[in-house]
Amino acid sequence: MDHPGGARAVARCDALGVSPYSDAPDMLFRAWMTPAFGATQGRVAEWMAEAGMTVRIDGATNLIGRYDATTPDAPALLIGSHIDSVRDAGRYDGPLGVMLGIECVAALHRSGRRMPFAIEVIAFGDEEGSRFPSAMLTSRALVGDVTAEALAVRDANGVSAAEALAAFSAGDVYTARRDPGSVFAYLEAHIEQGPALDIEGLAVGIVTGIASQLRYRVVIEGMAGHAGTTSMALRRDALAAAAEIVLAVEQAGQNGPADLVATVGRMIVAPNATNVIPGRVGFSIDIRALDGAVRDEAARAIRDAIGRIGAARGMGVTIERTNDLPASLCDPVLVEAMAEAARAEGQPDRRLASGAGHDAMILARLCPTAMLFIACAGGISHNRAEQVAVGDVEIALRVMLRFIEALGFIETPEHRGIGAASDA
Ligand SMILES: [Zn+2]
Repeated sequence: MDHPGGARAVARCDALGVSPYSDAPDMLFRAWMTPAFGATQGRVAEWMAEAGMTVRIDGATNLIGRYDATTPDAPALLIGSHIDSVRDAGRYDGPLGVMLGIECVAALHRSGRRMPFAIEVIAFGDEEGSRFPSAMLTSRALVGDVTAEALAVRDANGVSAAEALAAFSAGDVYTARRDPGSVFAYLEAHIEQGPALDIEGLAVGIVTGIASQLRYRVVIEGMAGHAGTTSMALRRDALAAAAEIVLAVEQAGQNGPADLVATVGRMIVAPNATNVIPGRVGFSIDIRALDGAVRDEAARAIRDAIGRIGAARGMGVTIERTNDLPASLCDPVLVEAMAEAARAEGQPDRRLASGAGHDAMILARLCPTAMLFIACAGGISHNRAEQVAVGDVEIALRVMLRFIEALGFIETPEHRGIGAASDA
């Protein structure tokens, strides 16, 4: 069966890539609760209504279209992603998942069908954290994880998230919290943002989970000195030590499964002058893997290497852990259902972990989650060069529709909501 909805989903993402859906004239930039964000909500709401949904905006600015079940008040399958973007963004990171959700409902509506569960398509706001030093506040509101303190964060103009919500007429953010009984699963389709599917020539991949993450801030203290007069033997060069550590971090990332990654992404050199031996270097380390034990083993190897290299070079070393995020596993039963849906569409059962965070990791606190990745050209994202193939998006839509179909038949103790809904 042909679903031209995939092409329409892509075309709609493209339409949202320019003014008035971007706040910048020469690139796509749509931060949370800006005029472009509001305009985008308005347009997407029209598409939701056209697809047969009743539309509302909750107290956390989430745009939600609901397509009722065969029975009223049945728990809902949430299909979502985010409509905010980074600066100079691609058009598909986020919006594609929302557009595919709309296409799923449009296909059901076109054939006059309803499922034993409701479907709610949800467009989140604050996934990228490009306006406030925060992230995923709007999905966190669904699971009741928003506090006055979290809303006190301020944007570059000194406006707090709480003030911005009031100015956006958002209503009471705390009312966005969902009763766990009203939701039975969450599905998110998203571009891969990595090159694996593209390299293997695959359209889609089944996400097994979102990687655990550790971050460190490291400071190496050596001795600044004149670059012309201090002989090599007498130097304590903090940047040379840091360079050795960067290579050790890279090596630790290579000594593990494919989803283990380790990165030094930020470095500050002092005094950062051409004629001065670097006396002090600060840098970040970011380590991710789906399996927390794999991640922790890499972190241990890196800390050992820092200690060893620092001691051999006579450096002062401080290591501070700044972030420790557990993995968020997709629901095993839903992963199998998604794999079965992919196979039924003639796609290989390719499973992969997500190294990037997504709203799904927040929703996992509320209900079982599933994610489907769509290949993006060269793995490029957070970049205007982001590209998807329409044919791949068509396949993703067909896989999602088969997955939705299968949900009505899943019956395990952990998935009572789904089985019960189909009995109702
Ligand atoms: Zn995204």
